[in-house]
Amino acid sequence: MSAAANAPRPTSTMHLIVRSSRIHSRGCYTTAPITEGTFIVQYTGEQITCDEANERYEDHPDTYLFGLDDGAHVIDGDGVAAFINHSCDPNCESDEIDGQVWIIAVRDIEAGEELTYDYCLYDGDDESPCSCGADRCRGTLYSDEEMEKRAKEGPGRKPD
Ligand SMILES: [Zn+2]
Repeated sequence: MSAAANAPRPTSTMHLIVRSSRIHSRGCYTTAPITEGTFIVQYTGEQITCDEANERYEDHPDTYLFGLDDGAHVIDGDGVAAFINHSCDPNCESDEIDGQVWIIAVRDIEAGEELTYDYCLYDGDDESPCSCGADRCRGTLYSDEEMEKRAKEGPGRKPD
């Protein structure tokens, strides 16, 4: 598919609500059905460098940061998308298009479902265990690639 055919068309932001989640803290739910492929909501917020984010949130365990593909910047989330929890068997995916991050439905989603996407974390210093409850939960918010890398490097790895 070409990039043009993929142009973001948000359709259902008005049906999103934030309430307490069984996965973690608060989550984002849809009150209306969503069709596979829908650009549900943009991950909005200030774009800052990773260094700025580290300074800003040094002592905060809960942050709403989204790492951009360049590996040097993050979005400091300020919208409902920031409340979407991780799942190892998600109903959405995140996609960066021209510097904008979109949450897109990867299957049809029923009214009342909690929206989730796979965080695929990398390069963190924390353990970030997963409690998504999916049958194929991999037990961590880190990506498979990151866990393989860690296994190879062994327990002696120092955070940079
Ligand atoms: Zn999981």
